[in-house]
Amino acid sequence: MAEVQNKPKRQRSCIACGGKAAKGELYRVVKTAAGVIEFDASGKAAGRGAYVCSEACLEKAVASKRLGRALRASLTEEDYERVALDVKKAIRGATG
Ligand SMILES: [Zn+2]
Repeated sequence: MAEVQNKPKRQRSCIACGGKAAKGELYRVVKTAAGVIEFDASGKAAGRGAYVCSEACLEKAVASKRLGRALRASLTEEDYERVALDVKKAIRGATG
């Protein structure tokens, strides 16, 4: 007798400020199976992901190297720059 419960929306935390938000409200950075660090615009890419809630938090996560730690990857300066650029584009695109 399976009683179906309403699944609560999955909450994720921003790796910089720890603020919680629904998955769709955060920006996901993923380490793909190939070990490439990318901004995950779909939020559905396979691999280990880390979330940030804002551009300021992205910068904090990058500056503190928390992004690399969260993804269990050693990111190069280039990785950080590339990902930061893509996330910023997405953030600005979303807010107009
Ligand atoms: Zn945040």
